[in-house]
Amino acid sequence: MRIFFLGTSAGVPTRDRNVSCVAVRRGGELLLFDVGEGAQRQLIKAGLGLKTKTKIFITHMHGDHLVGLLALLQTFSLAGREDPMLVFGPEKVAAFINSNLEMMGVRPTFPIQMHTLSDGFVQENGEYVIRALRTRHSTETYALSLEEKQRPGKFDPEKAKSLKIPVTLWRNLQKGERVTVGEREIDPRLVVSEPRKGRKIVISSDTYPIDAMVRFAEGADVLIHESTYGEDHLDKTEKNLHSSAGQAALIASRALVRLLVLTHFSTRYNDLSALVKEARRVFPRVVAARDFMVVTVAYP
Ligand SMILES: [Zn+2]
Ligand SMILES: [Zn+2]
Repeated sequence: MRIFFLGTSAGVPTRDRNVSCVAVRRGGELLLFDVGEGAQRQLIKAGLGLKTKTKIFITHMHGDHLVGLLALLQTFSLAGREDPMLVFGPEKVAAFINSNLEMMGVRPTFPIQMHTLSDGFVQENGEYVIRALRTRHSTETYALSLEEKQRPGKFDPEKAKSLKIPVTLWRNLQKGERVTVGEREIDPRLVVSEPRKGRKIVISSDTYPIDAMVRFAEGADVLIHESTYGEDHLDKTEKNLHSSAGQAALIASRALVRLLVLTHFSTRYNDLSALVKEARRVFPRVVAARDFMVVTVAYP
């Protein structure tokens, strides 16, 4: 699983930073979390292309998280995509898409399946679960988590051979079933290790620091938390409902995450070293995102 940071600036882009977009590549799937203006070009520049199975999550209806969606849908249409496109977002996102595509005269060549986000469960498949948490921001906004399900334990073929278990029964043991060999009953735990924990990533989106984020992000391998300001503008976090680097670090520390990635920086910060330093005083495993940074999420 790899995380591509495609937009790390808050509100407006800078020379080096585009507005919000995080892409997660997992298996054959591409999950997009917010698509600010120009996200499409960022995707192409990152070599991600637009051909893979894609799901789009819009955390809230602010332009710097949303307007790139229209260009993306138009491009998918021009490319003659036929697979359904899943778009998750606040209730208004459906009207935003429909009315704009109509005005643009774009008739998608594929069905767009829209799902309204609300607090709690969002979606699952055989491999992972997506959940949402309502944050504290100036409009209805959701943090999102992707949590992989436990994987079955590892089968040990050498051990199975040494126990003289016929190969035809290995599959049953892998599935956790007991098997009988002659007079012996074999417990699968003899040849299969404990189930292995999946990976978890959390994206805070825009928010003032909230206690609920601590539980939501608990034990995450990567917490991507907004850090619009530093302690030099602490008053603005409450006024504009955003977070500072130190506040994000406190959430990471309480949630016992493995890595904190700060993002969504106000354009007033050209040099981020002060923000990273501020966060590091509270939580050591922190990096500041930059556009096109890639984080590979290894199994714990
Ligand atoms: Zn924002
Ligand atoms: Zn916002």
